[in-house]
Amino acid sequence: MSFHEHSTNIKHKKTTLDFYRIKKRIGCELDILFTINDCKKNAAICYDNPLEIQVSRYFIDSSVTTVEKIEDVILHELAHAIVGPGNGHNDTWKDCAREIGCTSDVCAGPFLKKKDYNYVLTCPDGCDIRKLRVKKLNICSKHRKVLHVVKIN
Ligand SMILES: [Zn+2]
Ligand SMILES: [Zn+2]
Repeated sequence: MSFHEHSTNIKHKKTTLDFYRIKKRIGCELDILFTINDCKKNAAICYDNPLEIQVSRYFIDSSVTTVEKIEDVILHELAHAIVGPGNGHNDTWKDCAREIGCTSDVCAGPFLKKKDYNYVLTCPDGCDIRKLRVKKLNICSKHRKVLHVVKIN
């Protein structure tokens, strides 16, 4: 496992723990499944029957996503779960969101437009690096070897 994957997994694990910590803090006793998805469009989503909240790995991993933003998005989805996802972003949802301390923002912001990375670079020695931009010649700083570049966006 490369360092990048390793640090990413820690971030995902932390977000999962944060979810249950925040849920407990606001006194929500609903049974909600929490998962991390691969959605590039929405930062997070709440499903009904059974209740499930999913947060996008691209949102979590984005360089523009702060700890506060993740917490706000979790609160946003918890408000959906509490009043029922069918309420959308109506006043019932808005009241609940504000009561539990959410900004009641309905858009996660720049992460939706800005891609987190466009290139995946791999080193013959196993490194896995993600970048927004690449140079003509890319060298692994750890192994001093030429990186193989794949454009993904
Ligand atoms: Zn929403
Ligand atoms: Zn390397």
